[in-house]
Amino acid sequence: MVKQSLPKGFKILKIEKEWQKRWEEIGVYRFDWDDKTRLPFSIDTPPPYPSGEFHMGNVLNWTYFDIVARHKRMKGYNVFFPQGWDCHGLSIEVEVERTYDVKKRDVPPDKFRKWCERTIEKYIAMMKNSTIRLGISVDWSTEYRTMDPEYWKLTQLSFIMLYKKGLIYQGTHPVNWCPRCETAIADAEVDYKQREGTLHYIKFPLENSEEYLLIATTRPELLSACVSVAVHPTDNRYRKYICRKIYVPIANRVVEIIPDEMVEPSFGTGVVMICTYGDKADVKTVFKNKLPVIMILTENGNINEKGGKYAGLSTEEAKKSVVKDLEVSGLLEKTENLQQEIGVCERCGTPVEILERKQWFMKTRMLTDKVVEAANEVKWYPGYMKSRLIDWALSLDWDWVISRQRVFGTPIPIWYCKNCGEIILAEESWVPIDPKIEKPKIEKCPKCGSAEFIAETDVFDTWMDSSITCAVHAGWPNREDWRRLFPADVHPSGIDIIRTWAYYLMVRHLALFKEKPYKSCLINGMVLGADGRKMSKSLKNYVAAPEVLDKYGADAARQWAAAGGATGSDIPFRWADVEYGWRFLIKLWNASRFVSNQLKDFTLEENAEYVLQPLDKWILSKAEKLTKKVTDALEKCQFNIAMEEIRNFTWHVFCDCYIEAAKDRLYKPELYGEEKRKAAQYTLYTVLYRVLHLLAPITPHMTEEIYQMMYAEEKECRSIHLSPWPTPDEKRMDEEAEKHGDLIMAVITEVRREKAEKRMPLNTQIKKLTIYAGGKDTAEIIMEGRRDISGTCKVADIEVVPEEGEGREIKPYGNIRFIAEY
Ligand SMILES: [Zn+2]
Ligand SMILES: [Zn+2]
Repeated sequence: MVKQSLPKGFKILKIEKEWQKRWEEIGVYRFDWDDKTRLPFSIDTPPPYPSGEFHMGNVLNWTYFDIVARHKRMKGYNVFFPQGWDCHGLSIEVEVERTYDVKKRDVPPDKFRKWCERTIEKYIAMMKNSTIRLGISVDWSTEYRTMDPEYWKLTQLSFIMLYKKGLIYQGTHPVNWCPRCETAIADAEVDYKQREGTLHYIKFPLENSEEYLLIATTRPELLSACVSVAVHPTDNRYRKYICRKIYVPIANRVVEIIPDEMVEPSFGTGVVMICTYGDKADVKTVFKNKLPVIMILTENGNINEKGGKYAGLSTEEAKKSVVKDLEVSGLLEKTENLQQEIGVCERCGTPVEILERKQWFMKTRMLTDKVVEAANEVKWYPGYMKSRLIDWALSLDWDWVISRQRVFGTPIPIWYCKNCGEIILAEESWVPIDPKIEKPKIEKCPKCGSAEFIAETDVFDTWMDSSITCAVHAGWPNREDWRRLFPADVHPSGIDIIRTWAYYLMVRHLALFKEKPYKSCLINGMVLGADGRKMSKSLKNYVAAPEVLDKYGADAARQWAAAGGATGSDIPFRWADVEYGWRFLIKLWNASRFVSNQLKDFTLEENAEYVLQPLDKWILSKAEKLTKKVTDALEKCQFNIAMEEIRNFTWHVFCDCYIEAAKDRLYKPELYGEEKRKAAQYTLYTVLYRVLHLLAPITPHMTEEIYQMMYAEEKECRSIHLSPWPTPDEKRMDEEAEKHGDLIMAVITEVRREKAEKRMPLNTQIKKLTIYAGGKDTAEIIMEGRRDISGTCKVADIEVVPEEGEGREIKPYGNIRFIAEY
C-alpha cells in the first residue's frame, strides 16, 4: 500500500534542501572501504580550482559526473566519489595582489600565503555550497585541500620518486615567462590571442658594402638581442648573402647571415632577425646553430643593462624609443599594420616573453610514446576526444617546467650546499617540509662537508599537485590496497582541460607507477550563451548558476545539463530548456499524485496473476524497452538520449496516453470488474516505480521525494539512490501488445484531438462513434480495445466496421477512419 497520497503542490527548493541534508545524515554516498562484496567504481573527481564563482559550466560537468555516480551506485557498485579542492596557483595570487594592491615581493611570504588561504577558503565555502545545492552525490568524508601540508607531502613524495627515477632535472632553458606574474609558466598556461600589431621594415647594412637587407619585425625593441639574421636556404633573392656579415642597428654589432629552413620566404621580406628570444622559432634556430644568448629582459619584462641606453624601460617604451632612433638614423623604411597572434598568460592576460632562468623540469617528452599508447587504451566519451590528448602530447616542444617563482604553491623540497652548490634532495621521511623554514636533516654536505645550506625558494606548478589525484584518491601511499581503486574507472574532464588535466595525469602516473591512471575519460563541452557565443560577462550573455538554482531548483537545471546536447559538444544555455525541465517535474508530480490516490487500496502481491489488459501489456512492454534504451545510453554516457527517452515516455506515453486511457477502468469497477481495475493499479504502480528509478540519476531530489512518500516503506530501501537499478525484462517485451496498444491509443488520441479542434471539452459525450478499420485484423484489434476507447472518449455507442470508409483519418494509419456524432 502506498504510504501516503501526494499533496497538491510542492516546494521544490524545500524538498531539495531537505534531501541534501538527509542524504548526508544517513550517509547515502559514503564509500565503504571494508566492503569486499560489491565491486568498487572509482571516479577521479578533478578537484576544482575555487574561483568564487559557480557557473553553468560547473553545473554541466558536475551533473555529468553525478549521473554516472548515481547510475553506478544503483547498479550495485560501491561507488567512490571523492572531493578535493585544488588551491594553489597563479590566479589566486593574481587576485590577492589586486585586492591588496601589492606584488608578491612586497610582503613576507607567510603573510602573502595567509591572504591566499583566506581568499581560497571563502571560495571553497561558496563552491561547496553550490555543489551540495546541485545535489552532487560526493562523499564529503573524503574532502581534502591541496594547500594542506598533508597534501604537500604527497606532491613532494612524488617529486622525490621522479627525481630518483632520473625524470627530474634542473636546467637553464628558455621558458614561457609572464612578466606580470614574474614566473615561468608551462605551454598549457599560454593562451593565444589575435591583436593588431605593427610591422617595422628596418634596414640592416651589409658589412663592407653599400647594400642593405630589409627586415620586417614586430619587435624592434629586441634588436639588442639579435644574434643572427636568417634567410631560407633556397630563397634565390638572398642565397648569395649566406655567410656574409651584417650590421645590426641599435645593437651596433655585426652578425652572420645564416640559412634556416624555418624562415617563411613569403612573410615580410623573407629575411628575419633571430633574437634571444622573440619566439619559439628563435629558440629552435639558436639551439640548432649554437648561437649565443643575450638576455635583455628582466623578470618583470623591462630592458636590462644589456639593452644599453634603453635599460630600465618597459618593452613598450623601449619599442617607441627604438623606432624613433631608427627614424632619426634613416634606417626605418616603413611600417605596416598586421594582425598577429600572440601568446598571453592564461591567468592575467599579459603577453608572454621567453626567458632563460634556472628551472626545474620533468622529462615529459621522453614519455610521449607511452602517453599515446595509453591514450589508445583508454575508453573516451565521446570517442573523438582521444585525438585531442594525443595531438597535444605530440605537439609539445619542451619538457614540462615544474618550478614557479611564486609563493602560494607546494615548496620544492630541495636545498643547495652554500659552499659547493651540491643539490640536497629531501628524504621521503622528511616530507612534508618547507625548505625555506626547515634545514635539511643532515649535518653536512655529502660532497664538501660544509654545514651551510641555501633553500630552494621556488614552488611547484599547481599541476604538480593535481596531476597525482588518481593515485591519491585511491589511497596512495598510505593504504596498502590502493591499487584496488587504481586506475580510476572514470576521469571526467572538460574539453578545455584535456591538454592539462588529462595529459598531466597521464604523464605523471605513467612515470610514477608505469600504469595509466584512468580507464575511461568522460568529456564535457563548454556552455554557450543563448546567442550561441561563448558565455561571458562581457558579451552580456552570462548567467550565474545560483540564479538558475534559486528560480527552478537543481532538478530542472540538471535536466538542462543532461538534455542540452551530445556529450562532449558545446551546450547553449537557454532559460526555456530549464523551464521545460521544471514543467516536466510538475507533470511528474501530478501524475504521481494521481497514481498515489488510485493506489490507496492496492497492495502489491508478489506472485499474483494480474488480469492485464491490452493497454497494460502495451505500456509494460514499452517500459521494459525504455529501461533497455536508458541503461544503454547511460552506459555509453549519452545523457541527452537517456533524458529524452525518459521524458518522452513519462510525459507522452505514460501521462498523456496510459493514465488517460486507464481512468475509466479505475473509476468504474462496477462496469469493468474489480480484476481489471487491479490490473490497472498494478500497471500504474509498476510503471511509475520504473520511471522514478530511471530518472533518479538525473533528478535525484524529486524522485527521492516521490519514492519516499509512495514506495519506501514497502520496498524497504532507505533511499531510492541505494535501491537496485532495474534490469530490462525481456519476457515483458511484447511486440504484438505494443502493436495493438499503439493502434488503440492512436484512435483515442485522434478522437480527443478532434474534440480539441472543435473546442469541445474532452468529456463531451459522443453519441455514436463509427470506426472504419479497413481490414478484418485491425477491426479485431480495435474491438479488443473498444472499452478503453469508449471509456476514454466518452462514447455511448461504438461500432467497428471492418471495411474501409469515409471519415477523419487516424494517423499514421491511413486506411483507418472514424466518424463521431455528438
Ligand atoms: Zn601572468
Ligand atoms: Zn658542498
